[in-house]
Amino acid sequence: MRYPFLDLKAVNAPYEHELREAALRVVDSGRYISGEECAALEEAMRRLTGASHAVGTGNGLDALTLILRGYIELGRLRPGDGVMVPANTYIATILAVTAAGLRPVPIEADPLTFNIDGEAITPRDIEQSRAMMVTHLYGRNAWTPALRDVALRHGMIVVEDAAQSIGAASATEGVTGGRMTGHVGHAAAFSFYPTKNVGALGDAGMVTTDDGDLAAAVRALANYGSDRRYHNIYAGVNSRLDPLQAALVAVKLRHIDAITTRRRENARLYDRLIDTPLLTIPDRPELDAEHVWHQYVVDAGEHRDALRAYLAEQGVGTDIHYPTPPLRQPCYDSLDCRKDFPVTDRLAASVLSLPVSEATPVADISEICRIINRFTPER
Ligand SMILES: *Cc1c(COP(=O)(O)O)cnc(C)c1O
Repeated sequence: MRYPFLDLKAVNAPYEHELREAALRVVDSGRYISGEECAALEEAMRRLTGASHAVGTGNGLDALTLILRGYIELGRLRPGDGVMVPANTYIATILAVTAAGLRPVPIEADPLTFNIDGEAITPRDIEQSRAMMVTHLYGRNAWTPALRDVALRHGMIVVEDAAQSIGAASATEGVTGGRMTGHVGHAAAFSFYPTKNVGALGDAGMVTTDDGDLAAAVRALANYGSDRRYHNIYAGVNSRLDPLQAALVAVKLRHIDAITTRRRENARLYDRLIDTPLLTIPDRPELDAEHVWHQYVVDAGEHRDALRAYLAEQGVGTDIHYPTPPLRQPCYDSLDCRKDFPVTDRLAASVLSLPVSEATPVADISEICRIINRFTPER
């Protein structure tokens, strides 16, 4: 591919020296589980989000699952309770709910923002649910006045899936009073999977929350359920943050402003240069701060697959996030909940993600746009 969808080596190249230095520091430290490097990344995430606690985990899915398990251990959720989830999300959001023994109550997507549609929540959804999962899909803040209203009016626990939205702000005040994704809900999960805006060189995740009891429960659950040495209060798991990954992620996190700025530039350029009636560019929030462009996703309608094949032929890498709605995956064949969500189903068939990472130069974006504008579906 002349224009790869995402070149992780190029993404990390600007930080090569800092990354090598950080890795060597861990090699030389003799401390290979938990410790200072993990504490430093947790501190950096508290600073970024404004949350009072941050707890490293092995990955983003575990961060989500351990939040829900933590609420169950604290008696704030009971096994089998309903949790509202976006029908249109990466499957991890919903896997966390089912893994924790809770029941997904899916909510339709907003056709403009692709995020959970607060206006689509019915009285029956509310009656069935004690919590809501809010995924900031593609890096766009999903927290809205409608969701805030439902959460506050019905005393719901709000859990954010902030895996794609690191550094994105919210125009709507959180249940915490916070204004950053990762600090608008009662607890949030981040992922440092290598393709995320701030990616590790392996797996890593983080929970942020203002709730000290939940933070302590998650920290114990992630470490065999142990609150102190050889004392297990929960039947936990092993999902600790790896100090090597923590050291590497801390390097990347120092450059988050540069990363986000370059992604916003690329998105703005696509908006300006894409000029064809065959696709719709993504909706934009009023505030630039609300979007960190983890993905730049166009709606190509019925032409999606033809456009994707044409772009591949022309050397432009693309991806589809996501081709199958999570509730239509075979693993949920026997899950008893509503599965027909027309907006979500339509999006799965028509969305296409274009290269938007900070490793894609603006000159390449211009060329990609020229290629897109020459597309004719008859070819
Ligand atoms: C990446 C991602 C996750 C899971 O993170 P991992 O670190 O890969 O476990 C969860 N939710 C969303 C929306 C994601 O994009």
